[in-house]
Amino acid sequence: MEKAATPPQTCRPSRRPVRAGHLATFAAAVAFSGAATTTRAEPVEGSPKPELAVGSIPDSAAANPAQPTPAEPLVEPMQRLGSISVGHPNAGYLVNGVKMPPGDEWVLSIPDHAWGTDETIEALVHALRTVAARFPGGPRAILGSISAEHGGPLSPHKSHRTGRDADVHLFLTQRKPGSWYEAGTAANLDRPRCWAFLRTLLTETDVEMVLLDQSVQDLLEEYALLVGEDPAWIADVFDGTGDRFSDLIKHVPGHQGHFHIRFVSQYSRLRGRDLYDRLVEQGQIDPPVRELRHVVVPGDTLIGIGRRYGSTALAIQTQNGLNSSIIRAGQELLIAAPVDIPGARDPVIVPRRRLPPRSPVAQPSG
Ligand SMILES: [Zn+2]
Repeated sequence: MEKAATPPQTCRPSRRPVRAGHLATFAAAVAFSGAATTTRAEPVEGSPKPELAVGSIPDSAAANPAQPTPAEPLVEPMQRLGSISVGHPNAGYLVNGVKMPPGDEWVLSIPDHAWGTDETIEALVHALRTVAARFPGGPRAILGSISAEHGGPLSPHKSHRTGRDADVHLFLTQRKPGSWYEAGTAANLDRPRCWAFLRTLLTETDVEMVLLDQSVQDLLEEYALLVGEDPAWIADVFDGTGDRFSDLIKHVPGHQGHFHIRFVSQYSRLRGRDLYDRLVEQGQIDPPVRELRHVVVPGDTLIGIGRRYGSTALAIQTQNGLNSSIIRAGQELLIAAPVDIPGARDPVIVPRRRLPPRSPVAQPSG
């Protein structure tokens, strides 16, 4: 699946040329959607130049007189831009999240926590269907948490806030009734299904990392070599055998019963970065607030101070219990200044997919 080279269907470039003077954030969002040729392994720096958005009108649009003309004002509801992942997975939000659909191949253990980016949902559906097609007749996969509908804190997780993290229970040959994230062991781990799932994620989707306990990694690594996977590739992707900092599959305690997958979600994150200011303005995300003190100097006004710290005169007045907007030099004011959500303006890095040099010699199925 060459998903990364194609923008999600929900994120369409405008069919109208974007003229100078239009909302910069929107132009940027349109621009990167239209110019979906990001080079892998390179940070996507800054907003693409506006001329990227001034593409030729597609033939289908030109031939259709119902299409908006370039003279019409450019208004694009946020909902039509596709999923938006804002900030670091430990601190951010999800806007326009997509719910994992019901499927014959999986069950959602917490349906309210099954919201992700377009890319996350597409990748999960693809990988789970791939396993089911190769090994028909097994029990359905169990999905744990992805994110809440609008992202943000998701107890008891530290991450899972931006629609990019997904927990999928290990495939087991037998499961204790009512067990929750049952640990995978040599006795119960369904190695063929687990490996098929992991291999599909690594080779056919864009994964930033997979967290998995070392004991489970050892069992899967052994199995992968047994079925003829390339030893150098296996050493490269698993923890403890390759380069510690570049391993895709990392040991983190507490991951004995599930895969914790973090997807790259390139387009959702680009939207999150480029539309950040607009999302804050519209109140769709809550930036954290830092409390600070400002000592009034001659010439200061409440409006000016508010502007300087991203607050408002009214908010400062309320917070400091002022009856009017009159302030005097030397007076100390408490100000709640919004700060950026961590990671909200970071470059989006798409790691190169690390593919095996060849197909495995033996691929047992069923
Ligand atoms: Zn997790």
